[in-house]
Amino acid sequence: MSSRQMAVIQRLHRYLVCINHYGSYKRAFCTSRSTNSRFDYTERSNIYLLGSPGCGKTTVGKLLGEKLERPVIDVDDDILEPAWRMPVSQKLTEIGGKNFIDEEGKALCQFQSSGSVVCLSGSNPLHAQSMKHIKENGLLIFLDVPETDILSRLEKMKVNRIVGQEAGISMPEILKYRRSFYAKHHDARVMCESGETPKNILNRVLTCLDRLENDKGYISTRQIGPAKRQQFLQTVLQGLAPDGGLLVKADELPVISNCKQKRLVDLDYRERALRLLQEWISPLEIAGGELKVYVDNAYNENIFQNKDVAPVQAFQKNQYMMELFHGPTASFKDFALQLMPQFFNRAIQEEGENNRYLVLVATSGDTGGAVLDGFRQYAGSDTGVLVFYPLNGISELQKHQMTSMAGNNISVVGVDSDFDFCQSTVKHIFRDDHFSAELLNNYNVKLSAANSLNWGRLLPQIVYHASGYLDLVKSGVISHGQEIDICVPTGNFGNILAAYYVKMMGFPIRKLICASNSNDVLTEFFQTGLYDLRKRQLLRTASPAIDILKSSNLERLLHHVSDNDGSLVSNMYHNLDQDGMFKISQHHLANLQTIFTAGSCTEQECKSTLIDTYKRTGYLLDPHTAVCKTVADKLGDSSVPLLLAGTAHNAKFADTVSSWIDPSSGSLASSPNELLIRLNKLSSQPPPHETMLRMSKQKVIHKKKCNASPNELMSIVKEFASNM
Ligand SMILES: *Cc1c(COP(=O)(O)O)cnc(C)c1O
Repeated sequence: MSSRQMAVIQRLHRYLVCINHYGSYKRAFCTSRSTNSRFDYTERSNIYLLGSPGCGKTTVGKLLGEKLERPVIDVDDDILEPAWRMPVSQKLTEIGGKNFIDEEGKALCQFQSSGSVVCLSGSNPLHAQSMKHIKENGLLIFLDVPETDILSRLEKMKVNRIVGQEAGISMPEILKYRRSFYAKHHDARVMCESGETPKNILNRVLTCLDRLENDKGYISTRQIGPAKRQQFLQTVLQGLAPDGGLLVKADELPVISNCKQKRLVDLDYRERALRLLQEWISPLEIAGGELKVYVDNAYNENIFQNKDVAPVQAFQKNQYMMELFHGPTASFKDFALQLMPQFFNRAIQEEGENNRYLVLVATSGDTGGAVLDGFRQYAGSDTGVLVFYPLNGISELQKHQMTSMAGNNISVVGVDSDFDFCQSTVKHIFRDDHFSAELLNNYNVKLSAANSLNWGRLLPQIVYHASGYLDLVKSGVISHGQEIDICVPTGNFGNILAAYYVKMMGFPIRKLICASNSNDVLTEFFQTGLYDLRKRQLLRTASPAIDILKSSNLERLLHHVSDNDGSLVSNMYHNLDQDGMFKISQHHLANLQTIFTAGSCTEQECKSTLIDTYKRTGYLLDPHTAVCKTVADKLGDSSVPLLLAGTAHNAKFADTVSSWIDPSSGSLASSPNELLIRLNKLSSQPPPHETMLRMSKQKVIHKKKCNASPNELMSIVKEFASNM
């Protein structure tokens, strides 16, 4: 058994044991037990319920205890009152709020119990030391009941003052303050709808436990026979499945009911992100409180230049622009890459093998910058990033962005060739087992890919599509439940696949519009069911990030639409390699066509859209978003609002954009900074990208270049590994 498999089994064991009174307890998994994790459950560990006063902890706790045949301990009634020999309210009056929390904390620190359901008091989570103490022995479940329900219940119960509420602080304020502690300490969140009975909430808690128990992890799209399962964090380190397929969730996809979606409308981007990601990531891998830290690190105003992170604004007719380019490197890839390196770090800790990781990237422009920026912030000293970019076919600003990026353990090398060469050489390096063994033996370094096939990169992207929908509800464009279309300029199919997952989660999305430039293999596929590379050559366009013929993430869609048929998907990709094509059945095509439509545009159309939009509105698109808008104009219908995915800021493609708008400027060779200054004179919509502007003044640090020789690239990788 490999150490990875061992780790899965250990983790499965830890929570299976925890909930062994509930549901079907599968002993098959229980071969060994880890000793160093805080989720070191035994049948003797606790399930804690936390949440606001009035959320139903006590009642739900009693029901849960009955169901699981566990003793129920109520902190107020069973611990504090006997210890203090007086009612809790009397103690509060005697010693005041601040002392009360201390005294309560001290009492909880003495608490020793096992195998129980424990209902915490509403103020327990405010005491850090006691929370640390109880966390060592159990799972903390946050009963997240809508605030309106809490307030009306407290009113009915005639509670007008709770612990910590000093004069002049309103009830909603103190509840909000407390919620930040519940958010910080919880493992799992049970999101409730308005007006639910304790019995309903009990069922949600049981479903939550059931999901922990029956989490099937991730399998390969090409899985044939018994599944080899991976946990979320392993998918992040591993990238691809060993059989060459992509990793996909093995169970049913999470669904968020209409009522629960409504609860997200009034939340900001970070809060939405946390709740949506919690639906996908088991708290046994990343606890809610920890995920919150990652999300807050990634999506704040120091990182994204717009307080709404992914703002949506009315555009033309029934179109709305979702601006996904306010991150540090000005493309939507920042959404994934400000978060994913934190998962990556966490996965390395979990693995605990003392390996070092070399993240090896071939980029056509946008990925390289986003990977470098994300990893340089979050990666530990055990991780390095090496990027190969093509000297031909990348924009001046993309190049400057990467080559001026400072940071430890990062290196950027220009290859005297095009993107295809860089990518195929990097793929070749990954497949070379001998080379990998050499890196591991000589330098203790493992290779890893942070490309868009990595599940840890795809997952964060679901958030903005959902958030885009919620923003349209919030601003009153639609009422909740009304459908919208989403149009995405598509290359490797990652971004639009994330939108597909949001639809599968139950968000009211009618059609997904897949937009291509003249490399329109996907348009043909969605119209005919034929994926055909035989007569195609990659064409160079002004939207290079979607100049792709082998759209890798499509494989995940084929897996889902074929009901997880591993051998079917495996055959299709075998055909693609052998014969340059595959065809899906009429039945599958018909299914896909109920969800997707696809269209493409020529270079001239893209350019006209960009110029025309600028002339009419003053808004300056980047060429990818111009492809998106062109196809949306062709395929959208006016009955439904349409969300355009604005995938890059115009600044990233300043050379192309300026020369289109003002042809006299195009031929002048100028510095990156001059290019941006000229561009910013043309338009202030969207606002100039400040980080790009700053970056354009920085000195080039990475000057290394090499020839288009696989051996040369390999020796650069070796040299980098030896210096890590
Ligand atoms: C990467 C990228 C795309 C393509 O996204 P996929 O997820 O590969 O479909 C589109 N536009 C821009 C600006 C990009 O950087």
